Amino acid sequence: MSSENCPGDLCDWVWGEVCMMEALLVATELEKKEVAQTFCRKGEDVMELSPTCLGTACSVEPPACPSGSKAVGDIHTHPPDGSANFSPFDYNWSFRTGHDIHCVASPTEATQRTSEGDFALKKYIIRCESINHDAPKAREKKAELDALLSEALHAAKGIRDKVALGEEYPNELYRTYRKTLNEFGELGHSTGLLKDCRVPEFMGVWERPVERKRVK
Ligand SMILES: [Zn+2]
Repeated sequence: MSSENCPGDLCDWVWGEVCMMEALLVATELEKKEVAQTFCRKGEDVMELSPTCLGTACSVEPPACPSGSKAVGDIHTHPPDGSANFSPFDYNWSFRTGHDIHCVASPTEATQRTSEGDFALKKYIIRCESINHDAPKAREKKAELDALLSEALHAAKGIRDKVALGEEYPNELYRTYRKTLNEFGELGHSTGLLKDCRVPEFMGVWERPVERKRVK
């Protein structure tokens, strides 16, 4: 299944490193900062990981590969309260670097309502996508894809600036952000530019409950 969804062996290799990805989730929870690691290809069949890099509360630049290997992808975290989805900045980075795969990981918390009361359920979520920069349909729709991503980027920057200035949350801009990013994701998937890199037992994302606490 995964070989069909993710051409080549990269997707399988990445999921084989799921313990490493969990370690990044633990680090992001402790530090409340983004953490990143780069996937490096050394020769035909050998893969290795770069050292881990710690960023700020809202960004991180994945580190360079050790000499003699080439960066083919990366994973970064969004700290607690962040989203387990790729941001327009994430897509922009992966396209600029020409990476073949990217992953995002985030600890999320949701309220679970049961007959015995409410519980806070914490989950670790990891999502990976393969990127086919040469997908023929994506080339045809390049102008449309670029326009959607740049509109989403523009909205994301606008939101970030308003929040930084302590201004009222820009709901209208947020709607534009969601709409253009969703449309970009849909077009990206339908043209073959993006493919969910699925862990075999689950669909689309990998998630694991890590803590369940009663809420008063
Ligand atoms: Zn991100």
